[in-house]
This record gives sequence, structure tokens and C-alpha cells, in this order.
Amino acid sequence: MRDKLLIFGSPKIEQDEIDGVRSVMESGWLGTGPKVAQFEKDFAAYKGVQQAAAVNSCTAAMHLSILAAGIGPGDEVITTPMTFCATVNVIIHAGATPVLADVDPRTFNIDPARVQEKITSRTKAIVPVHFAGRPANMDALCSIASRHGLKIIEDCAHAIETEYHGQKVGTFGDFGCFSFYITKNVATGEGGMVLARKEDDHARVKTLSLHGMSRDAWKRFGNEGYRHYQVTEAGYKYNMMDMQAVIGVEQLRKVEPFWRRREEIWHRYQNAFANLPLGLPANAEPDTRHAYHLYTVLVDEARAGISRDGFLNAMTANNIGVGVHYLSIPEHPYYQENYGWKPDDYPNATRIGRQTVSLPLSPKLTDADVEDVIEAVKTVLGK
Ligand SMILES: *Cc1c(COP(=O)(O)O)cnc(C)c1O
Repeated sequence: MRDKLLIFGSPKIEQDEIDGVRSVMESGWLGTGPKVAQFEKDFAAYKGVQQAAAVNSCTAAMHLSILAAGIGPGDEVITTPMTFCATVNVIIHAGATPVLADVDPRTFNIDPARVQEKITSRTKAIVPVHFAGRPANMDALCSIASRHGLKIIEDCAHAIETEYHGQKVGTFGDFGCFSFYITKNVATGEGGMVLARKEDDHARVKTLSLHGMSRDAWKRFGNEGYRHYQVTEAGYKYNMMDMQAVIGVEQLRKVEPFWRRREEIWHRYQNAFANLPLGLPANAEPDTRHAYHLYTVLVDEARAGISRDGFLNAMTANNIGVGVHYLSIPEHPYYQENYGWKPDDYPNATRIGRQTVSLPLSPKLTDADVEDVIEAVKTVLGK
């Protein structure tokens, strides 16, 4: 057994990021400035789009996208029960009503057939999550959206590198939202990005992200003299700082080698666990690119001989940090009390949420770390 805890989701921070932060601090310009502009430009170029708007989290990115989509009180937004709570909370923050559609048990992604069943005259948007980095079924979701005149806001928190039928995710919907939280594939500590397909939507997100201060007002006054700003709506304080952006610029440069390392670890796990009594993730579908953000196994007590929570505790006792992504949304009291959601109504998400365990999958892991994880899994299962 290893003698030090292997931390789950630890980012790979190297000298480039440290030097970058140091230079920003020495420049004296810590807030929103040239490094944020550079990160937006680099991210847009990586995604092959015209514009990107940096914000301080994916939660902020999703909140602003829903507002910019014109969604508010009286509207319904369909999303998945197999996600982080933020996906649902931002719909509530916008004053709209979240509606859940169960997931496909093989992909863990929202099932288009279940989405179809939940559409009413009040439905305004679909919010798919590309779970673990595996693309949602965008052909089916886009076709439903166009048939019913719905917006699509993609939660791409796991999916920076994900592609579906040759197209990068975050570019299918009206909006694509990304996270640079510590555990994500590109980490800035806290941070997020919005890709808005329409120029107007992009401008609205930019304005809303900084107090509702109009950018046009700045342009009108040119480069000379004091420039007044005009507040055109009650916006939010969701801007990213240069200290964060400079980390993102450096991390994004390494996105491919980091992806390749996670892909290698993901396949090493698949091979090592092939004969164990665990549910393993399906391989990536043809003509897609999986971002390999999470490696999740299902622990079914009847088959594994140990409960999911017993497995979590035993892994930690073996000094391997583990995660749960996620207990399904209807398991939480807030949603039960306010929306009447019951776990039994979402059987696939509920079963996954009660059996799933995420194993470490950071590009920072050494080969020895990966073997320690495999050894611990075998020990815990008594193999
Ligand atoms: C991490 C995450 C978020 C929230 O991202 P933040 O940047 O922490 O706000 C939203 N959705 C999913 C699926 C996530 O994993």
C-alpha cells in the first residue's frame, strides 16, 4: 500500500503557470486585462470560433447563457439528473423551472427519447451535459430543438477536448459553457468560458458579466480622456482576473499532451479491470472524441461483494483519493421539497448515482501512481 494519499483530481501545475502568475503580479495588473483577452482569443482559436467570453466559473457561464437566451419565469428548461447541482441551480437562478429527463444507462448522457417526453408548450431550452467527457447525442438533441424551436445550452464542464461527428462540443448549441475549476481538464483554480454562436448573444454575456456596463459606451469615447461607462442593465460580477487567465493560457498550450496522458491511463484501467466484478465505462463511440475527464466504475454490491460506500472508504483507507460523480439530482432534499422529484422516477440516474466511483485520472499521475490505484482496487475487491 502507498504511504501517502493520492489526491483525487489534482491539477498538473508546472513552472510555466508559476512564472505566468509571477509576471502578472509583477505587472501590477491583477484584474481583468490583457491576459483575459489573450485567453479568450486562444480558447476561441482552439475551438475554431470567432469569440469567447471569459468569466469566473462555469456556473456563471451557464447563468449568463440562460439569461442571454431570454429564459426566465414561466419557462421550462430540460436537463439531466446525472450532473453537478450547478447545472440545475442556474436554471432556478434565472427564475425558470428545471425539468429532468433521465439518462441513457450506457453513456450516462441525457436520453433524447426522455427529453422528447418532457417537452411542453413552456419548454424553452435543453441543457445537455457531455458527461465525463463523452459527447451527448447531439444529432438527436439538435433535431428535437429545431423541431420545437428550443435553445441548446451545452454544459461542457467535462468536455474541453470532446468532439462529436467531427465537430467540437460547445459549438452545437446557442451557447457552450466551460469550466476551469481545479479538477477540470484545463485548470485556472476558478474560471469559466462562454462560446455564444451569435454576436449579439456574445455581447450580452460580456455586458452581463461586468455589472451590465455597456462596452459601446467605452468605444464611443475612443482612447482619449476619461471614459464614462453606461449601465444598461443590472448585471453581475462574473469577470475573470488576469491572474487566473495566465494560468489558463499556459494550461491550454498543454491540453493535447494532458489529454493523451489521460487517454493512456483510461485504457490502462479498462484493461486492468476487465475481469473484475465492476461495471466499466463503455469505450468511446465511433466518430467521436472522448475528453477522458472522469474514469468511473459501477460498484453493484450483489456482484462486487462490497457496497459502493464501503468501496469508497476502503479505497481511501488504501490511500487512494476517490470521487462520486454524482449522486443523482433527485436524491437531494432541496429538489425533492421544491420540485417533488423522486429518485425512482429517474431509475438510470439513480442507479448510477448509487453505484458510481470515480478513480484518479489526472495527467499528473505517474505510472507508479496508476499501478497503486489498480492494486488498491484489486485489494478492496479481494482479488
Ligand atoms: C464543475 C461543473 C460545473 C460547475 O463548474 P464551476 O466552474 O465550478 O462553476 C457545472 N457542471 C458540471 C457538469 C461540472 O462538472
